[in-house]
Amino acid sequence: MRAAVFRNGSITVDTLPDPVPEQGQVLVKTCACGICGTDLHAAKFTAEFVGLAGRTGGRWTMDPTRDVVFGHEFCAEVIEYGPNTPARLKPGTLVVSMPLTLSGQTVQGIGYSNDVAGGFAQYMPLADRMLLPVPNGLSAQHAALTEPIAVGWHAVQSARLTPEDVPVVVGCGPVGLAVIAALKIRGVHPIIAADYSPGRRALALKMGADIVVNPAEVSPYETWKTVATPEGFDGSRYAQLFGLGPKLRPGVIFECVGVPGVIEQIMEAAPAAARIVVVGVCMQTDRFEPFFGIVKQLNVQFVLAYTPQEFAESLEHIAEGRVNVTPLVTGTVSLDGVGSAFEELGNPEKHAKVIVDPWA
Ligand SMILES: [Zn+2]
Repeated sequence: MRAAVFRNGSITVDTLPDPVPEQGQVLVKTCACGICGTDLHAAKFTAEFVGLAGRTGGRWTMDPTRDVVFGHEFCAEVIEYGPNTPARLKPGTLVVSMPLTLSGQTVQGIGYSNDVAGGFAQYMPLADRMLLPVPNGLSAQHAALTEPIAVGWHAVQSARLTPEDVPVVVGCGPVGLAVIAALKIRGVHPIIAADYSPGRRALALKMGADIVVNPAEVSPYETWKTVATPEGFDGSRYAQLFGLGPKLRPGVIFECVGVPGVIEQIMEAAPAAARIVVVGVCMQTDRFEPFFGIVKQLNVQFVLAYTPQEFAESLEHIAEGRVNVTPLVTGTVSLDGVGSAFEELGNPEKHAKVIVDPWA
C-alpha cells in the first residue's frame, strides 16, 4: 500500500506492506483522514514530543528513528475481517473508530505508532469492537471530523456548564472551532470567541459563536463583563460582598491556543472565580504566576481527547446535523500533497482542516 511516511524528520511517500488483520481486527481502506495540529507538532518538535510522552509514564512511545505513518482523524471502509472474527459489518460499510486498535490483549494507538500505520496510509487494521458505522449517508470527509469534534465535545462536557455560564473561547483554530460547535449544542449563550485571524473569526461565526472579537482591538474579558453584568449590579455595594443582589454570570474560558504564555495571559485577565479549561496542547515549558489564580480563586482544568461515549456522540452530532462541519474542511490533498499541506497549515488564513485522501 502507499503511505505518507514520516521518516528522518520529513514526509515521504513510499510503499509499505499491506497490514494483515489479526483476530478481532478488521482490515479497512482509508477513505479520508484529517491532518491534526498534533501531527504538525510531532513532525516539527519530534524530540520534545517523544521526550514528554516518555516522561508521562505511560506506555505510549514513538521511536523517531523508525518510520511512523501519522493520521488519527479518519473514516474508512470495511474490507475484510481477521481470522475467527465474525463479520459484524458488510464489506464496503463506512466506519469511524477511535484512533486505537486491539492486538491480542494490548491496545495500540494509531497515528503515532511505529508498528501500525495511521490514516495517511491506504489500509489500517482496526479493532472490530471499536468500529462505529457511519449513519445517514454522511460523507467520509465529514465523518472523518468525528475525532476533532469529539475533542471539543469532551472539553465542553468536562466544563460542567450551567445555563448561567458565559463561555469565552480563546483561539479559533480547529480545536477552538470544535469547542464552539460543542457549546452551540449545549445551548450556553452567548458564546464569545477571540482570534487575531479574520479568517478564523469568520469560521467561528459559522460554527456558532455569537460574538467574535479581535483581541488586538477588543478584550474578550471586557466583552464577557458587558454580557455577564446584570442590571442593577454594583460591585462596590456591601450587599454584593455578602452575595446579595444581582450576580455576575460566571466566566468559563477555553484555552484553545496551546503556546507558551497564553495560560498566564488568561489568568491575569480572567474574572474572579472563573473556570479555565485548557484544551490547547502546549509542548514547551510554560510559566505562570500563581498569584493571579490565588487572588481570583481560579479553577484551572486540563483536558485531553474524549471518552468512547463522547466519540460516538460526536459522530451522531455530525450525522444529525447538530454540527455543520462543512466550513471546517478547507482543503483536500492526496498522499503526495501531505508534505506541503504540513507547511501550509501554519497559515491560519488559509486553512482550518485539510483532509487527506490516500486514494486520490
Ligand atoms: Zn488530533
